[in-house]
Formats: sequence, structure tokens, C-alpha cells
Amino acid sequence: EGRAIRFPFDNSYARLPERFRARLDPTPVAAPRLLKLNTALAERLGLNPVALATPEGAAILAGNRVPEGAEPIATAYAGHQFGNFVPQLGDGRAILLGEVVAPDGQRFDIQLKGSGRTPFSRGGDGRAAMGPVLREYLVSEAMHALGVPTTRALAAVATGQPVMRETPLPGAVLTRVASSHIRVGTFVYFAARGDVEGLRILADHAIARHDPAAAEAANPYRAFLEGVVARQASLVARWMLIGFIHGVMNTDNTSVSGETIDYGPCAFMDAYDPATVFSSIDQFGRYAYGNQPRIMQWNLARLAETLLPLLGEDEEAGLAVAQEVLHGFAPAFEAAYLGGLRAKIGLPGDRMGDVALAGDLLKAMAANNADFTLTFRRLCRAAEAPEGDAAVRDLFNDPAAYDAWAVTWRARLAEEGGEPAARAAAMRAVNPAVIPRNHLVEAALEAAIVRDDLGPFESLLESLARPFEDQPGADAPPVPSEAPYMTFCGT
Ligand code: AMP
Ligand code: MG
Ligand code: MG
Repeated sequence: EGRAIRFPFDNSYARLPERFRARLDPTPVAAPRLLKLNTALAERLGLNPVALATPEGAAILAGNRVPEGAEPIATAYAGHQFGNFVPQLGDGRAILLGEVVAPDGQRFDIQLKGSGRTPFSRGGDGRAAMGPVLREYLVSEAMHALGVPTTRALAAVATGQPVMRETPLPGAVLTRVASSHIRVGTFVYFAARGDVEGLRILADHAIARHDPAAAEAANPYRAFLEGVVARQASLVARWMLIGFIHGVMNTDNTSVSGETIDYGPCAFMDAYDPATVFSSIDQFGRYAYGNQPRIMQWNLARLAETLLPLLGEDEEAGLAVAQEVLHGFAPAFEAAYLGGLRAKIGLPGDRMGDVALAGDLLKAMAANNADFTLTFRRLCRAAEAPEGDAAVRDLFNDPAAYDAWAVTWRARLAEEGGEPAARAAAMRAVNPAVIPRNHLVEAALEAAIVRDDLGPFESLLESLARPFEDQPGADAPPVPSEAPYMTFCGT
């Protein structure tokens, strides 16, 4: 009996007015089978991992049983997809079971993704294929281990049912955990309907969950917008510093919590090139690596627009406030990004010229097809001893490009002084050795799907849980024949 498994639910979103969501249960699946349970996350949430691993637990995680205290809903939202406004999207294949309050008092959404059709499904089947479910599991947990704010994966369950894509594929359900699923697109949904009361209710709800201090500010909605801008500036800087490309930065995939959300066509860059795009549907490179800060600023402008009626006495006053807050994005992003870049080359201070020095390295990397992750990781050793140079210069088509840069860099390090070992250790704490390399992720998914072998998935997940440790063999870039890589969305 699934009801024996206790979730500490307190469903604040389900208590909002009816127009915020549709109330419905997940659609049961043929044969739930637990593929993976995140035991540590279950414990962190105050859930019993032993109970969740039973067939009753799997039935809940597949959507076949609704646990006691859940109030399953599909939430309404709108969004700009590749810049084009869509007035109604909503959870077309996800059901929010409810919110649990963890033992430390933190509140988390528990959402099933791939749990069947909803009133927001439009033409879709409401389902998810096993590949993308396992991919989101791996990449979101890797992001968490890298220290990047993100939604997380509690479980993946096979449904025992095919989903029809170009070919029939095995289906699965992901249990996604987030500090909320409130998106820029959720605000856009109410704004587009001229529903100012709904907007105010949503903003007050978001403030209570993500910016409780804003409620005490002279202008709470301004303080909220400032909070979102600050979180997103920091988030995108973190993406840029690890070579992460989100791939589908639509306003419905931009969370006001500042967590990375929607791991559809995302990928990590191998060779450094700001124009890198992986997504098969991103024809014009709107969401290329180097465009991400600009696109986030655009998305935040869409959020600010929705708040105009709340930000000032009248629209004009609101507009002035919105513009002021939005102007804070670029400096906040730059401070986080440039500070992070300096730390990556072992110069975390803010001395003039260090940013240019880091920029020169990036230029040399781009011109020489150097692997982003490996260059910075191997640079840690080079910071300790010049013998380390050999492994770095090997990554450049023309190794002399690195040599020239390293002369200037070493001179600058010598000026800086300090213990080389301590500097290298600090660099190793910000330059990951292991990222979810596309070819490794694909190999793990293929083993799981084609051979029913979760071994490679498990060992990759284990390796990704400690990204700042050197793991010989786990850090290999793709061999040239495996590139170029392309991701596919919406499956
Ligand atoms: P995404 O591109 O993942 O951000 O999804 C955009 C919209 O399409 C959201 O409203 C999703 O809920 C919806 N969607 C994606 N895949 C499906 C599907 N298989 N069935 C129904 N809705 C879907
Ligand atoms: Mg989405
Ligand atoms: Mg998606």
C-alpha cells in the first residue's frame, strides 16, 4: 500500500487560486521498474530511501499511486520559445505531486516528469523516453556536484511502455526536485492575460519562497526582481565558467529561484569556441555558449515587463524601476564571470590586466581548438611546476600559442608570490577534472537502453559526483571522429 510511505507534504502552490493550475493525477504506467534512486537526496528531503526502493515506492515514483498528502497539479505558464511568444504552455508532461518541507525547513517541489497527458499537453503524448530521463539525471546531478544551482533528480523509473518518437523508445519517468518550478514564463502567463491580481499573488508567493527578506523592503517587488537578477547573473556566470551550454533558454525554462532547469538539449563544450551550439533545433545559434549572458538579460527583461504594474505608482514609475534593476545584470554577471575567470588561472585578486591575461588564454584556446575543461585543469599543475606545461601545450593545435601565453602568465604569478602548492589547490577547487562529456553520457545511455545495463550509468554518476578530483581515464575528451555532437530536444 503506497500510503505507508510518508512524504512531509505542505502544498502551498496547490492552495493558490484555481487558474494557476489544473488538478489531476498522473496517468498510471504498465510496469514500473526503479532504474535509479538518489538515496542521499531522499535522506536530505526527509524521505525514507528504503521505502522508496520497494515496489510501492516505485509505484509512487511512476505515478501509479498518489502518496498521502499529495495534491497533484499541472501548473500553467507561458513562454518565449526561441524569442517567439507562446501565451500558453504549462506542464504538458509533468505533474507536481506537492512540496515537501525537509528536516532543515527547506521546501522542495516533487515533480514527476513524463507522467502522462495534462490539459497543457497540446499535441504531445505527455511522456518521456528513457534516454532523456537518464540524461537529465546524470547532468543535473553533475551540475549539483559542480556547485551550480540546479533542479535535482530523485529517481528514474522505467514505465514498461514504449513512447513513439521517430521510432518506438522505452519510456521512463523522472522525479525532479526543485526549490520551486516558478518560471519567468509563469509571470508572463498572467501578464499576458492582464491578470494583475494573479501576478501579485504569484509574486507574493515567489517572494515567500525565494526572497523572504524582500517582503520587508520598501518596494518588495523591486527587491524580488533584484533577487532574481542577482541569482541569474551568478548562475549564467557559473555556466560560462564550466563550459555549460543550456541549449533552450526560453523564458519558460528560466526559473526565478536561480536554479538551472530543463536539461533537454544541454551539453558541455569540448574545444573552446564561444559560437558552440549543440541543439538540433537551435538553427540560428540563439542559445550558443557565448550568447547566454545576453539571452538571460533578455529573459529578465521579459520578467521585469510583467512586474511593471507592481513596481511603481504608475507604469512610467514602474518602468524606471525596472530599467534600473535590469541595468544591474551586466555588472553583476561580469563581476562573477571575470572573478571566476581570474580564479581559473590562479589570480583571484582584482588586479588590472589579469582579466586581459585570462582573455588572451581564451583567445589562444579558441584559435587552437584547445579543450576547455582539460586546459584549465592541466593549468593547475603548470601553476605548481613548469614541468606541467607539456600537458597543457599538447592541447593546442599550435603549442607555441600556449608557450607564448605561459611566459606572461608565469611572470605575473611570480609577482603575485605565494605558495605554488596552495595556488594549485585553489585552482583545482574551481577547475573541474571531470564533466559529463557528451560521448560518455551517450555511451552510458546506450548501455542502459539497448543492453539493459545500468553499470556504465552508475559508474559515470559516481565519477561525476566528485568532479574536482583527478580521475585518470574519466576525463578523456572525445576522439575527433565522435565530434561534432548534436543534442535533440523534447523527447
Ligand atoms: P521544453 O522545450 O522542454 O521547455 O517544453 C516546452 C513545452 O512543451 C512545455 O510546455 C512542455 O510541457 C511541453 N512538452 C514537451 N514535451 C512534451 C510531451 N511529450 N508531451 C506533452 N507536452 C510536452
Ligand atoms: Mg521546459
Ligand atoms: Mg524540456
